[in-house]
Formats: sequence, structure tokens, C-alpha cells
Amino acid sequence: MDVRTVLLASPRSFCAGVERAIEIVELALRQRGAPVYVRRQIVHNTHVVADLEARGAVFVSELDAVPDGACVVFAAHGVSPVVREAAAARDLDVIDATCPLVAKVHQEARRFAGRGDTVVLIGHSGHEEVEGTLGEVPGGIVLVESEADVATVKVPDPRRVSYLTQTTLSVSETGRIVAALRERFPALRGPAVEDICYATSNRQAALTEIAGRAELVLVLGSANSSNSRRLVELAAEGGTPAHLIEDVGELRPEWLSGVSVVGVTAGASAPPRLVDEVLAHLRGLGPVEVVEEPVAVENVTFTLPLAVRPGA
Ligand code: SF4
Repeated sequence: MDVRTVLLASPRSFCAGVERAIEIVELALRQRGAPVYVRRQIVHNTHVVADLEARGAVFVSELDAVPDGACVVFAAHGVSPVVREAAAARDLDVIDATCPLVAKVHQEARRFAGRGDTVVLIGHSGHEEVEGTLGEVPGGIVLVESEADVATVKVPDPRRVSYLTQTTLSVSETGRIVAALRERFPALRGPAVEDICYATSNRQAALTEIAGRAELVLVLGSANSSNSRRLVELAAEGGTPAHLIEDVGELRPEWLSGVSVVGVTAGASAPPRLVDEVLAHLRGLGPVEVVEEPVAVENVTFTLPLAVRPGA
């Protein structure tokens, strides 16, 4: 039997912001006891959510569903100030799991608007992270989703325009949108450090490294995970068929038919065990050689909020 090659993208799977958010809910459950309420999915992954639910976390869409005095965790994608104010007004025991790299974008939104600039946010309408960032300057941020949108942006003073981005966008597409904005607004200013986070860009670079050599790419991640979806698009743009799968149960046998080189990766919210399960499945089908050539080493860690920090 021929040996199938698996090109394993590296880095892949959990980022520091996701690990921190999950740890926050785990610590809250241990320290406060169940139930601990979580506003929205703590991270965009159904396995993570189901696992925490089984341990006593209760996921809600809005704060109305949280009883008075209860503990509520804000998800990694961040919240608008209106949500913070509503929680404070009800004296809820709030623990904020917003990723510090999302919090940085919120700070920039306030700072850029505060200096009198029109703020253009590059991102996807309806995504929770975008809702939170827009809420920092109500009615004062223009959302741009594509290069085509750039022509429609209306600003009072074209010399005073700044841009921000969602943290989980396609690096290449965002670069094109920023270039189009700069062409329209030559004085455009942006963040000192890119808003697309290290985890998003590393996972895209790692996949770029392997996708061209693979006949098929499998991306572990949930359908509402922005960075996972960008990985599927990236592989497909390069001409490699790619599928987003929640777990090994969604891997269709026909995709593998006649395929001897498979690329495997996982979005930043997908647990590493999901990749292990795919590898185990492939090994069960025949001999497999796994090749992994990391394009970056990630050693980012974030401190925990005081509300759950052990010993604080
Ligand atoms: S993908 Fe980036 S911004 Fe989002 S939680 Fe992970 S590190 Fe933070």
C-alpha cells in the first residue's frame, strides 16, 4: 500500500487568547462553582463550548438571561461598552476574557476617534468582535468589508482618516484594502502594530507553506470561526481543494480518494486533539508519513484577569 503524506501546518490550533479565555471559564467554575454564565460563545468552537457546558458553564446571547448577582464571563471577542455598562448597572460579577489583542483594537478606536479622525474599521459585518469595536465609538466608525467598499466611504475631512482591522482577517486581502484606502486618503494613518494578530498571520503563513504541495487541505474549525474560514479560502485561492470540518466525523471518504498528500491545519479556536483524531483516522486507513516544518515558534502568553488570578 502506498504511503500517504500528511503535511501538518505549524503553528496551528489554539492561540494564547483562546487558551486564556478557556482557562478563565475553568477557573471561574472552580472558584465560584457552577453555574457560570458566559455571554456568547467563549471562543468560536462548538467542541470548546460543549466541553465547558458539560462542566457547568451556561452560554447566553445577552445579559438579560443572566440572573441578578450571578457571575458572567465576557467572551474572547470582546464586548461593546454598552454591554459593560449594562453588567455594571446590574451588579453582575463580571470576568472579562476579551483577548488583550482585541482590547488593543478597542483602545485604538477610542484614541483615533479622540484625536478627531474618522475611523475606518476593516472587518466582517455581524462578527462579534466587529460589533464590540464599533460600539467603542457609536456611529463614529465606518465599516469596510472589501476593496469595493472603499469607494463608498464618506468622510468629513480626507486628511483625518485612520484605519483599524478585525484581528482574524486574511493578511493579503486586508493589505489590498489598506492600499486602496491609502490611495483614496494619502494621509491615512493606521495602528503602530498590525491589528491582524500574530496567531492569525502565523496560521496563514504556515498553511501557505504547505498548501501548494497538498492535493487536499483539511481545516479543523467551526463554521463561525473567522480565522478558520480564512484558512479554507487561502488554500482554495491557491488552487488546492479545501474543506472546513468540525471534527473527524465530518471527513468524507470520497475527498481522500486518490489523494496521496493531505495538508492539515486548525483554526486558532480549534482544540489540538481534533487534529490528533484526524491523524489517527488517516493512520487507520493505511501507512502515513507526517511532515511538519514550523514557520514560526509561538511563545506568546497573556496574564489572567485579577478576578480569577490564583493568589490575587
Ligand atoms: S485569534 Fe488572535 S486576537 Fe483572537 S483570541 Fe487568538 S490571539 Fe487573540
